[in-house]
Amino acid sequence: MDVANSLLLLAEAVLYFGVMAALFRLRARVGLGLFVCALGVMHFLETYLASVFYIELPFGMVSPGSTVMFSGKLVMLLLLYMKEDAATVRQPIYGLLIGNFLMVGLGLILRQHQVADLPTGQSPDIGFLDEMGWLMVWGTTLLFIDAIAIILLYERLGRSLGQHLFARIAVSVCLVLTFDQLGFYSVLHIVTGAPPSVLVGGWIAKMGAGLVFSAMTVGYLRWFERPSLRPQRGLSDVFETLTYRERYEKLVEFAGRDSLTGLLHRGRFETMGEQAVTASVKTGTPLTLLIVDVDHFKSINDRFGHAEGDRVLKWIAENLTGAVRVQDHVFRIGGEEFAILCPLPHNVARLLGENIRQSIRAASETGPVSLTVSIGVATVDAGKTSLGELFAVADKRLYMAKDAGRDRVMGDVAEEAMPAGVRAPSAGSAAG
Ligand code: GH3
Ligand code: MG
Ligand code: MG
Repeated sequence: MDVANSLLLLAEAVLYFGVMAALFRLRARVGLGLFVCALGVMHFLETYLASVFYIELPFGMVSPGSTVMFSGKLVMLLLLYMKEDAATVRQPIYGLLIGNFLMVGLGLILRQHQVADLPTGQSPDIGFLDEMGWLMVWGTTLLFIDAIAIILLYERLGRSLGQHLFARIAVSVCLVLTFDQLGFYSVLHIVTGAPPSVLVGGWIAKMGAGLVFSAMTVGYLRWFERPSLRPQRGLSDVFETLTYRERYEKLVEFAGRDSLTGLLHRGRFETMGEQAVTASVKTGTPLTLLIVDVDHFKSINDRFGHAEGDRVLKWIAENLTGAVRVQDHVFRIGGEEFAILCPLPHNVARLLGENIRQSIRAASETGPVSLTVSIGVATVDAGKTSLGELFAVADKRLYMAKDAGRDRVMGDVAEEAMPAGVRAPSAGSAAG
């Protein structure tokens, strides 16, 4: 029977994780709402099971509600944070908190009803509703603390366990589940008189669940998600975002903008770029990537100082934004490197690059710092069907432009077909 009970728990964990992870994986296509809604729906069943549904295992009494669904939910919130961000994960965290308090509030009103007798003789168990209510309030409060704690722990452990993803997730999950078990049991004991075997059994089961869910999360991330290059954030930053206390600049920044130039940052380049390339491959609409790198930028810092360097970067960002159309996107993807994604065929996008090159050069000639840029251009085609491939080619061309003497736009000769009447400029011309 013990084996059967353990296997059933495992089956529940696999089903729960499988369905939730599938919804999460589909978020780009069907929206994140499905995932979040499914997560919320589980909460009621979970609390109900945790108050009345226990099985006996050799090490103590265990509730599938706490072991599988509660542990699973925390792991799902962590996954949401890992792949999206603090501003996204705080939505279900607060949603669960408010939704559960609403449920308790409605429960309080409901019990004032004069309840009609049913022909079947059934009547609502008001005492149970009261118990559930208190457990719900406490469980909800704990969940709120747990959810914030697990994210902060995960972020904090990045410093010591950065590379060891399984250890980082498992330690965060297990520590928070231990805290939760102590907290939940203390109130469960007061309300329902649950014996200590519930504390011990539940803890061992939660540790098991923590390890199983962590392993499944690592497997899922490895096989079903692209690695993301999100930089590590300060704990106070994350905490402020999670608790809706961030300042406006931070909101803007984590909505995907670079704080110096206000341009979309590298993370957004990766997500938006991948989506745009996929759409272009699918629909056949053209998509071109331009990588713009400032020439000899280091010497500007060296000669005029870092602050002036920053001012120049802002100025370049404004120029790039001014040069493109609304349907084009400009990103700052490195210190003095920018990317432009535009739905244009190769030759037209090269002209846009040429235009940018000339206007930056001309505009800076009147100022104290003379500036030039080099640009690598690549367009989606049969040989470039992912953002990685597109980027690699544009980057290679950028380096060819640098090698050829800088201050030029480098595209592909074969792809290039200058429309009649457009003359390639002579000095520092569109090489390639
Ligand atoms: P090249 O023509 O080969 O591109 O020369 P470069 O000097 O521009 O090339 P490199 O990539 O070696 O130097 C980039 C410099 O940009 C180095 C770094 O000090 C500076 N930098 C990077 N980020 C910032 C920033 O945010 N502000 C300032 N002021 N400088 C930055
Ligand atoms: Mg440079
Ligand atoms: Mg550079």
